[in-house]
Amino acid sequence: MTTTLPAYDEVVARYEPVIGLETHVELGTNTKMWCGCPTDFGGEPNTRVCPVCLGLPGSLPVANKAAIEAIIRIGLALNCSIAEWCRFARKNYFYPDMPKNFQISQYDEPICVDGYLDVEVGGETVRIEIERVHLEEDTGKTLHVGGATGRIHGATESLVDYNRAGIPLVEIVTKPIPGTGALAPEVARAYVTELRDVIRTLGVSDVRMEEGSLRCDVNTSLNLPGAEWGTRTETKNVNSLRSVERAVRSEMLRQASVLDAGGRITQETRHFHEDTGDTTPGRSKETATDYRYFPEPDLVPIAPDPAWVAELKAALPELPRVHRRRLQQQWGLSDLDMQSVLNAGAVELIEATVAAGTTPAAARKWWLGELSRRANESGVELAEIGATPAQVAELQGLVDAGKLNDKMARTVLEGVVDGEGSPTEIMTNRGLEVVSDTGALTVAVDEAIAANPAIADKIRSGKVAAVGALVGAVMKTTRGQADAKTLRELILERLGVQG
Ligand SMILES: [Zn+2]
Repeated sequence: MTTTLPAYDEVVARYEPVIGLETHVELGTNTKMWCGCPTDFGGEPNTRVCPVCLGLPGSLPVANKAAIEAIIRIGLALNCSIAEWCRFARKNYFYPDMPKNFQISQYDEPICVDGYLDVEVGGETVRIEIERVHLEEDTGKTLHVGGATGRIHGATESLVDYNRAGIPLVEIVTKPIPGTGALAPEVARAYVTELRDVIRTLGVSDVRMEEGSLRCDVNTSLNLPGAEWGTRTETKNVNSLRSVERAVRSEMLRQASVLDAGGRITQETRHFHEDTGDTTPGRSKETATDYRYFPEPDLVPIAPDPAWVAELKAALPELPRVHRRRLQQQWGLSDLDMQSVLNAGAVELIEATVAAGTTPAAARKWWLGELSRRANESGVELAEIGATPAQVAELQGLVDAGKLNDKMARTVLEGVVDGEGSPTEIMTNRGLEVVSDTGALTVAVDEAIAANPAIADKIRSGKVAAVGALVGAVMKTTRGQADAKTLRELILERLGVQG
């Protein structure tokens, strides 16, 4: 089926989007949720398993206290109320990567409820209401082999690895988010970014989307202005912050084209494809009754001591929003400038570059200039560009020491991004150092003066602006490896003119 998608501007002029996000975060506890198996990423398949996480008959789960503490801290950081008493529930469904044939989760008694997270989008604060934060266990991983796509279709064998089964998983569910209009895709991205930063600050997960320790499902629906909310779809497989934004946008366009043609939206899960940027249907969505939830009989209820919760609250670290405000002040940035730093995903990078010994202004210049440009060109996140804060600080150090001029520094930085080594190594290997040997420069200047007598006379007669032509001439013979300011002074000196 080929349909031409409507233009985004037209879609948001005619329809109102409502989005919602369900985010799963694998906690970085040392052991799994219900047993003592280790949780680190990688490892030979099925080597980090025991009777409990394999769901063998007669084995009994015991809740991991570190995971309970972590989720309470997440809930507190998200301004939630912490339940004084709650239970785990069995969510029944059959899938080969789930050895027990049920998942221990939470249903009508989540541990954290009714919170919010404020995010900044386009200079405005948008409050995202959090419905619940609950604790469950991760599933194993199924690998389909023999097919061309790695999916079950066309595969000859399916392999299951239970190393991940039973790793504590926190699910954070927002309330529906209406009223964001054309900004809906950006709001979704800003929320996941902020949530990731909050959780990273708490130190309870490494929140790496590419390794799957932070996974996001995006709900999207469209309705006509003033009408009831539309039927929503749930987009899975969204593996990067950029994809969160793209997935919402793509689903808005697809739904609009269905609605425009008089069709109806099917409630279903959809898969997002990184390569094409569009979604395809998955299974039609189960409702809660299909899961036959009931209280987990093998676990005691959780009743966190209010004094302990208060202690955890008092010990929360400075959260990203507060931290950013402090940095903005320290760096002396306007709201607008800070916003561009945020949009570029450069806060932590600049902070680390400053910590490595450079000024905020210089750090900002490199990360928002050359490096952001390269990141955009190659479609990667700034943090993945290949240059580290320490390298950027080193580069600026070479500029400050007069060894590199601005143009050469940019060339060196290209080399850093291309993996040629440290700035100092690249400068040496490429022979890029500024010619600071005044003897050699003087010779080049005298040659330029001799070759351009008319210009020299002009300068001598007081038209100092003409010096630019001689600077250009010497730059040519020194292949750009002179410092323009030094050169200008030297030329004037040789001509006996006051700068
Ligand atoms: Zn185990």
